Amino acid sequence: MIRRKTKPWLVRAAAWAAALVFAAAIPAIGESSGIAWIVESVTPTPEPLLTDMAGFDDLQGEAASDQPASDNQWLFPFPRSVLYQNTLRLVNTSNLLDASYVPNDLIRISVRKTSSSAILMQREASEALDALFAEALADGVTLYAHSGYRSYQTQKSMYDNRLSRNKGVDDGYVAKPGASDHQTGLGVDIISKEWIGKPLNGAFANTKEAAWLKAHCADYGFILRYPEGKEAITQIAFEPWHMRYIGTDAARYIMNEDLTLEEFDALWREHVAAIGGAVSGEPMHVYQTDVKGPDGDHELSLFAQGD
Ligand SMILES: [Zn+2]
Repeated sequence: MIRRKTKPWLVRAAAWAAALVFAAAIPAIGESSGIAWIVESVTPTPEPLLTDMAGFDDLQGEAASDQPASDNQWLFPFPRSVLYQNTLRLVNTSNLLDASYVPNDLIRISVRKTSSSAILMQREASEALDALFAEALADGVTLYAHSGYRSYQTQKSMYDNRLSRNKGVDDGYVAKPGASDHQTGLGVDIISKEWIGKPLNGAFANTKEAAWLKAHCADYGFILRYPEGKEAITQIAFEPWHMRYIGTDAARYIMNEDLTLEEFDALWREHVAAIGGAVSGEPMHVYQTDVKGPDGDHELSLFAQGD
């Protein structure tokens, strides 16, 4: 049984079951529509209330788990297509990039920077950064990009330098070569004017720029990649300046749930693996439930189902 015991997931369990009822009634959500249609259909449409749906009473609480085929279900608030996007790639000491890995769509970012040196990022991340910086400025917050894409070799030099300055001790501030988020071309360090030229540390979190970033980054597809209190999971010290682009769907989920990319990655892979075992590779389908979650967004459910 693939079901989270926490309440939000129970809410989604009811939503999923309601989706089955709804999907059966609306041919447009059938198997020919595909994931792309679902992704584009998140705009609200007139929808029946969950409580108006037939069978709702039977689906409340634990009763939902008695529904047929429920062993194959997996409830997740966005489509599978999002999970396999390159932008969600997890890079850390256990998931190393090759020395030769270079993203193929690196461009020079055009936002305000801490120096005149060019900073490169993947195009999609760079465009999101434009929007992030513009919105910050509109809120009276001036951000400075400090570092973006780094090659494997650059990271290796930085790591070696850090070690030699630190008497050979890895203090967790510079990732090992191949383990850096910066090599993805999706990671960016963002600071304030006051911190230009200063060694970065956790005290940056006390600035209004860091507070603004934490509050708004997800709306532009970025997450705080190395949060406070999660150092044992990320293996990297708290870095309130290091933002990672992953796309808005996953970013909002991760920031809302206070997750790291490591935790999120493990979570969805665990569910996919469990479903794969249950239905031996049957394709999974994504349905918009037409039920709004606690955050007011439409819930999307993904579940395994033979055609
Ligand atoms: Zn960084």
